[in-house]
Amino acid sequence: MEQRRIAVIEDEPSIAASVAARLRAEGFEVELAADGPGGVELCRRFRPDLVVLDLMLPGLDGLEVCRRIQRDRHVPVLMLTARDSEADLEVGLAVGADDYMSKPFSPRELVARVRALLRRAERPPASEDEPLRLGSLSIDAATRRVRASGRDVHLTPTEFALLHKLALTPHVVFGRRRLLEEVWGYRVGAGERTVDSHVRALRRKLGTDVIRTVHGIGYALDTTTL
Ligand code: CA
Repeated sequence: MEQRRIAVIEDEPSIAASVAARLRAEGFEVELAADGPGGVELCRRFRPDLVVLDLMLPGLDGLEVCRRIQRDRHVPVLMLTARDSEADLEVGLAVGADDYMSKPFSPRELVARVRALLRRAERPPASEDEPLRLGSLSIDAATRRVRASGRDVHLTPTEFALLHKLALTPHVVFGRRRLLEEVWGYRVGAGERTVDSHVRALRRKLGTDVIRTVHGIGYALDTTTL
């Protein structure tokens, strides 16, 4: 298999060096950038398979870098953050980061996340109309039929749309704002509690473990109990 390329955009030299060393030891080809504009340029030139991106960067912050690199093409982004700010993480997910880790983190955990993101990215996304089968849960967008453990589950159209959105990419965390935009078509900032109440309804109908809450961030479909 061709060597996977990873761009590491991080301005703290010790963190950048240890992340790069670890990823190289795991067989990845790694290139580094130490500021925002350099990171954008690196992604253009190096065409990485994945980007490890620090949120707080000189020049351009990580959010703006994320926006710019996603403008060219979709590339999985693992965001690193020192700030424990829910708003930042929410915005990070909204601009297209796929996952995040708070500092300090263990290099082993980082490698595990990187591998998971690459696996996810290499799997072709399920087609919107194809019936989805996730363990004991099946979701058919064509007939709008949901079955769980062999029984029909009746969902409202919005509940169906929300479940279908989460189920197309299991384990990917969606922020409330993103769900509002993509399921409800709302603009940023409107009625985030709406999302919570629909999640509660889905849990009532499908079981509490089906949708995982990522505290302060949003929700993901969890297939481990299905
Ligand atoms: Ca930094």
